[in-house]
Amino acid sequence: MHGCNETHDAQLSSWVHSANEADCDFPIQNLPFGVFRSTVGNEVFRVGVAIGDQILDLFQVARQGVFAGEVQAALETCSEHSLNQLMSLGQPVWSALRLALSRALRSGSPLESKLSDCLVPQAESEYALPAEIGDYTDFYTSIHHATNVGKLFRPDNPLLPNYKWLPIGYHGRASSVVVSGQDVIRPKGQTLAPAAQTPQLTPCKRLDIELELGVFIGTGNARGTSIPLALAEDHVFGLCLLNDWSARDLQAWEYQPLGPFLSKSFATTISPWVVTTEALAPYRVALERPQSDPALIPYLDSLQNNTLGAFDLELEVLIQTQQMREAKLPPEKLIQTNYRHAYWTVAQMVAHHTVNGCNLQSGDLFGTGTLSGPTLDQAGALLEITQGGKSPITLANGQVRTFLEDGDEVTLRGWCQHGSGPRIGFGTCIGRVLPSIAAGA
Ligand code: MN
Repeated sequence: MHGCNETHDAQLSSWVHSANEADCDFPIQNLPFGVFRSTVGNEVFRVGVAIGDQILDLFQVARQGVFAGEVQAALETCSEHSLNQLMSLGQPVWSALRLALSRALRSGSPLESKLSDCLVPQAESEYALPAEIGDYTDFYTSIHHATNVGKLFRPDNPLLPNYKWLPIGYHGRASSVVVSGQDVIRPKGQTLAPAAQTPQLTPCKRLDIELELGVFIGTGNARGTSIPLALAEDHVFGLCLLNDWSARDLQAWEYQPLGPFLSKSFATTISPWVVTTEALAPYRVALERPQSDPALIPYLDSLQNNTLGAFDLELEVLIQTQQMREAKLPPEKLIQTNYRHAYWTVAQMVAHHTVNGCNLQSGDLFGTGTLSGPTLDQAGALLEITQGGKSPITLANGQVRTFLEDGDEVTLRGWCQHGSGPRIGFGTCIGRVLPSIAAGA
């Protein structure tokens, strides 16, 4: 687990002036990694770091030849169209690269003139997925989400007996993980209408969001070995925003006995920027696990995990309907919550995932599960906010929503900030719902 170092100093400023503006998501203390290309010209995707409203093109930085040793070796992986190779180099190298970039981007750095040629405006860039994702696993780490959803199905017994013993998860679909900005086509599937005797193939009528964070695995483990809790975060490259689009009517019919399948596999949207766990070091907080809960089995328990395993990370979800867009109304906030309310930590997810000898690989993605807070306005899915569709939401323009309608655009945001200090932002994770494709099309 990372402590704080000179890269976290709140007083640092950058010669990239936009990085010094209040409320900028990408100050010099952040330095998130992503895969991008300029929309000007005919360039290939490569690795960059967000700084202010610019991207430092690490492929170009590598060609400047101003660094040496492991930092230069790390930069030479940045001509790739994914972060996988950089991820596989391991935590000490990621950390050395962060330090070198922090020093090079600081106000007064002698490298300013060379590196200023390597900046690409974000406004003239497009993004690819940050990594080639071999496997995607979605967890269920918010006890508030598990309780809210459990109550809809089992009012007397919302939490199943395993919940406080292990981080529940299922294997998701990697092929349909897409980067922010890609449209989401309303899925079709089997649904059983209330009081109907037989299911029908219909477009989903209860399309939902799930506000989650993604966790990118940096270095994996050999099959047959496990990653202990104490070392788990050394294997984690960083976090991103993740919207696990969910078809609730498909899910209700298909989920027993093996869990979600087609209700989740049609699309998962992630933000283009991966914020390293090192950047998040100043925002670590204690795990919220009541003293009265059962003592954990030792492979999931440590003092460090209990005292510093969680993150004070604000999250919000905004919606903009088609009608709002046409009326030039800005997106409206639906949800605000904080990652600190999760019941299981990133480290516990890694330790549990590998306890059976399952091998993780560079670029594997975990979803945290819907990150609902303790109150209903902090719930991370429409299913919870609308009480299973029984309590519709009225938006400021008078439109009513129980679930998503065609044309709705959903934006996730996340950030860590202490007072007026630097904002370690995650950028945005955006997706717009398009109508289902007609039968035969
Ligand atoms: Mn999910």
